[in-house]
Amino acid sequence: MDLGLKGRVAVVTAASQGLGRAVATAFAAEGARLAISSRSEAAVGELARKLEREYGAEVLAMACDLRDAAAIERFFRAAGERYGRIDALFTNAGGPQPGGFDELSDADWQAAFELNLLSVVRSLRAARPWLEKSDAPAVVNDVSTSVKQPIEGLTLSNVLRAGVVTLTKSLSLEWAPRIRVNAIAPGRIATERVAQLDRDRAVRLGSTPEAVAAEHIRNIPLGRYGQPEELARVAVFLASPAASYVNGQFVFVDGGLVHAL
Ligand code: NAD
Repeated sequence: MDLGLKGRVAVVTAASQGLGRAVATAFAAEGARLAISSRSEAAVGELARKLEREYGAEVLAMACDLRDAAAIERFFRAAGERYGRIDALFTNAGGPQPGGFDELSDADWQAAFELNLLSVVRSLRAARPWLEKSDAPAVVNDVSTSVKQPIEGLTLSNVLRAGVVTLTKSLSLEWAPRIRVNAIAPGRIATERVAQLDRDRAVRLGSTPEAVAAEHIRNIPLGRYGQPEELARVAVFLASPAASYVNGQFVFVDGGLVHAL
């Protein structure tokens, strides 16, 4: 299947590692032109050079701390001015601090709100005029399976992702029929974030990260963690013209982890 992404303009935030990196790489492999950002200019520059070398991709790489409204504005303006439009946007940021309700202060809630909800609002607002210039614009917001089944010990993520899916559904109505807006919900995809969560839980339980992972895997029908590329293929499809009739959906890439209908 041709996803129709050749020469199209894709933007990925928090792209230096993990899911963002995999999604940026998958866009490049499909022949898209890219604007990517992360907090560290060096890290995102390293990825840009790799994508240029391996796929001949055209890449704009910029530092952008997603807690900084002005930086978000600058990044999207630069992307729009460079390419004249944005066809596909993958919103993504680092995960919020882990912890249960009793461990979280107002400052923790504020920080997570800025990073995991307000950054999406700001990115979408800044991207909107450039998305409008595309003939088939699409947004994919990165959320989590916690939108269906809250995850123990990740209270901030559980609450704030719910805001992003509600925003996704709202915009799938408000921005229709011009801009498609969907969300993707990773289960346990093997990234540094998940490895760190497993290490933290092992310390709390006096266990090992391997034993913690095995306990998670018992609940995953496919019997393993996913790979970032497996998430990326679905995200890139949703953001492509090939998914032209998919709007307002939350697609789970979780190996069957969420057992709910
Ligand atoms: P990761 O920690 O491997 O990568 C996160 C990326 O975000 C890094 O590139 C990091 O530099 C960047 N980042 C962190 N803070 C930032 C900031 N203030 N501004 C800009 N960039 C920032 O995480 P990941 O596994 O790739 O996850 C990405 C997102 O998806 C996170 O929000 C995570 O909670 C969520 N998620 C991941 C999984 C999974 O299985 N990996 C599951 C559910 C949800």
